[in-house]
Amino acid sequence: MSDCLFCKIVEGGVPAALVYQDEAVVAFKDINPQAPLHVLIIPRKHIATLNDLAPEDDALVGSMFRAAAAMAKEHGYHARGYRTVFNTNREAGQTVFHIHLHLLAGRGLTWPPG
Ligand code: AMP
Ligand code: ZN
Repeated sequence: MSDCLFCKIVEGGVPAALVYQDEAVVAFKDINPQAPLHVLIIPRKHIATLNDLAPEDDALVGSMFRAAAAMAKEHGYHARGYRTVFNTNREAGQTVFHIHLHLLAGRGLTWPPG
């Protein structure tokens, strides 16, 4: 998707603070962090929203969550706790239409979320 910000990050056309990448996913620091650790994990493949997932993407989504858990552990938050969030469409506040898993950690996170 030539007009997708996160595809451009995957392709290297837009700079980002990359923290992890493999054949399926890329992870980088959120530009407007909401917690001491705020990383976005995205698939290399363009998928606009969770509504657009296909059965063939099941392993990809699993890879995104496993990458999040690995990074939480790497930063020492796996026992303290962390949050993983997908926002989907307007009322949930999705602003970039290439799915991204937010990994948030390092402070007490309230529930329910705003
Ligand atoms: P969402 O509101 O769930 O769609 O999340 C989009 C996230 O992308 C927000 O937390 C933004 O701060 C973040 N973001 C937007 N542009 C960039 C960028 N160029 N690099 C890193 N994070 C970004
Ligand atoms: Zn994209």
